Amino acid sequence: MKVKEQQQILFKSRQIENIGELDVYAQHGGYEGLKRALAMKPDDLIELVKASGLRGRGGAGFPTGMKWSFVPKTPGKPKYLCVNCDESEPGTCKDRELVEEQPHQLIEGIAICCWAVGIETAFLYIRGEMLEGYLALRKAIDEAYKAGFLGKSVMKSGYKLDIVLHRGAGAYICGEESALLSSLEGGRGFPRLKPPFPAISGLYACPTVINNVETLSTLPHILVNGAEWYAGFGTEKSKGTRIFCLSGHVKKPGNYEMELTSTMRDLIFGCGGGILEDKELKAIIPGGASAPMLTREHLDVGLDFESIAAAGSMAGSGAVVVMHQDTCMVGAILRIMEFFEEESCGKCTPCREGTRWMRDVLIRIHSGHGQKSDLDLLLSVCGNLAGKSFCPLGDASTSCVTSGLRYFKDEFEHLVEHKKSKYSLGAYDPRLVAAHH
Ligand code: SF4
Repeated sequence: MKVKEQQQILFKSRQIENIGELDVYAQHGGYEGLKRALAMKPDDLIELVKASGLRGRGGAGFPTGMKWSFVPKTPGKPKYLCVNCDESEPGTCKDRELVEEQPHQLIEGIAICCWAVGIETAFLYIRGEMLEGYLALRKAIDEAYKAGFLGKSVMKSGYKLDIVLHRGAGAYICGEESALLSSLEGGRGFPRLKPPFPAISGLYACPTVINNVETLSTLPHILVNGAEWYAGFGTEKSKGTRIFCLSGHVKKPGNYEMELTSTMRDLIFGCGGGILEDKELKAIIPGGASAPMLTREHLDVGLDFESIAAAGSMAGSGAVVVMHQDTCMVGAILRIMEFFEEESCGKCTPCREGTRWMRDVLIRIHSGHGQKSDLDLLLSVCGNLAGKSFCPLGDASTSCVTSGLRYFKDEFEHLVEHKKSKYSLGAYDPRLVAAHH
């Protein structure tokens, strides 16, 4: 079967040597999109982004132009842009590549967004562990100030824009937009009640747009090539391309940019070269650890938001994790749950207690001490957590358990009955469990 190849828009310049440097970026058309944006009225620019069909690439897939239009136009309080570069969903590493390799593409996208919404200060919140990305951005922002792409008069237009680069301390919850705002203000990274939504009351209680790195990096291309051109890629509701972070048991893991008419098969067998050692595919996590698992039956599911949702999962962060036939799924699910238990911020009881409880029950089953009733117990805890936690992390922690029990219940039952996994990868190892505690 013929598989689709990559469709590179954001990655188009990826192979150009030193594209992270301003001179090289400008030689290849860099900042042309910003020039065109500054020649437009802000409201027209918002309409253009709406017409392109661009949706947020951070996870929720909310239409970008629509999000911008929610910010009140009334003068008074300052407005802010917060760039979410706190990439930490397990398996996700695309924003990292974008900021390390093409920081000016992001800076240009930030400036376009800020001009459209009337923002004079953008905060770029980067995950603390991303040192290379931080250094690349620091250098690129300094270059952009010197060349007049940022500062008191952007491209001599009279429009003033500053970018503040802020390093986070490395908590998964700070990728949640309201927790990111709390952290940016100097507080503990706790999520906030919504509404009010950030567009009305965000950073320092001022109207705030929060956009992801990939979303903003797409803007220069839309400005240069037009909304119609961008909307010509993808499906009716999911326009354009998306970067997928392919990892796990594939021959060629990596970041691949695909048109949103492509399928899981295109990504895994086309770009990824198929399953390691030509083994059989067993499970796919299609959107990072928060997304319900799928199986080899879902290989022909499209990569667009709607197709993945129709298959019972979510596109999430774009991290596609592949597991082959030798994987102990109970072990894999336990590992994911350990992550959520560790990263639960502790603000609300269902998540703080529920993730720990699920982890402990999974350890019991995985180590051969489980009982048949533990399977119902797991589902019961999931039911008491999903929809009852303060922020989406609580809901997300249940996805691996509910989907795991839907597709791999036999593995749980085998472990309860025989006290030992049939699979070699991720089978119970007391040393690993002891080391973790
Ligand atoms: Fe914190 Fe979890 Fe509650 Fe979110 S759901 S507020 S991460 S304890």
